[in-house]
Amino acid sequence: MNKYKICVIKGDGIGPEIVDETIKVLDAVSHKFNFSLEYDYKLMGGAAYDVFGEPLPDETLQSALDSDAVLFGAIGGAKWDNLPREKRPESGLLKIRKALGAFANLRPAVIYDELIGASSLKPEVIQGTDILVVRELTGGIYFGQPRQKDENSAYNTMIYSADEIERIAKIAFEAALKRDKKVCMVDKANVLETSQLWREVTQEVAKDYPDVTLEYMYVDNAAMQLVRNPKQFDVILTENLFGDILSDEASMVCGSIGLLPSASIGGKVGIYEPIHGSAPDIAGQGIANPLATILSAAMMLRYALNQDQAAQAIEDAVKQALAQGYRTKDIANYDAKEICTTAEMGSIVAGLI
Ligand code: NAD
Repeated sequence: MNKYKICVIKGDGIGPEIVDETIKVLDAVSHKFNFSLEYDYKLMGGAAYDVFGEPLPDETLQSALDSDAVLFGAIGGAKWDNLPREKRPESGLLKIRKALGAFANLRPAVIYDELIGASSLKPEVIQGTDILVVRELTGGIYFGQPRQKDENSAYNTMIYSADEIERIAKIAFEAALKRDKKVCMVDKANVLETSQLWREVTQEVAKDYPDVTLEYMYVDNAAMQLVRNPKQFDVILTENLFGDILSDEASMVCGSIGLLPSASIGGKVGIYEPIHGSAPDIAGQGIANPLATILSAAMMLRYALNQDQAAQAIEDAVKQALAQGYRTKDIANYDAKEICTTAEMGSIVAGLI
């Protein structure tokens, strides 16, 4: 029997609630497909700061490095907002991504027919949307040095090496091969030198993928096209800052933030997490939607553990739960037959495995 070690980080806010439900589903699927998962629970974010005075304690990072994958809920909350930047929960997340070499963030944005009414866009515009945003995660302006702020001025540095661009471009082209074979690289090459380098390098990488069509789009146009005609996109490849913004936009095309998973991969160990935050406004009420985290676990099974069938089983179970009319409160006004708590939704999906 295959055995895998998973570093589980629940985090803050709704993190513990949604991760607990995901473990229920993972237990069901590992039982069915005959592999075993060992969970190593560790702290990160505000919860870790309260115990260790650090948002990313050494023991958490070590556990992550020693695991086959990291399953992560969410971090952050008002309680820790006024800490110095390096002590804030978000610093822990940036640090672990960097330390694990997770330079590629994959975010699928898929519209479920059952939830088509959850989008603010017209059904005919979004039906059939299936986009994968591949965002560079460990470079660019969020990490570039020098950076500085004083009372009267501030600056950041957007910097990329050709190697950083090449490795993420390859991930986008590989992903496109398994999909509709289209990559749209989003940049601002009309004003930014970094974007010009992105184009040069991506064009070179494209030569190794003759079956994949490469096109370019300026980021301002892409922001518009995503709401005008999202179906035109297959894989969107972009740098860190643009990807941060566009992946949120792509996800809202699909309706609820509580449904969208992500994978941060590229290094030895990947991080699998929902795209939403810790939702402090609803924490502890049992109403958080656990599906984004459950679907992140499916990505974990597919990308980190090569358990494709088990991943598919989770995705099918989620679709079935929605088709049967089960909804958490955030998506409840769209054809709900039954409004579920977080725990009920977890049990329903686990039961459908
Ligand atoms: P958020 O994603 O936590 O919440 C935005 C809105 O969506 C809220 O109304 C929330 O109730 C709702 N929501 C989010 N997830 C939901 C779910 N699973 N089910 C139902 N409703 C859900 O974003 P925010 O409010 O801007 O940030 C809250 C905290 O989360 C902040 O401290 C922020 O820094 C942090 N954050 C963390 C991550 C992360 O851990 N990766 C990402 C984004 C924000």
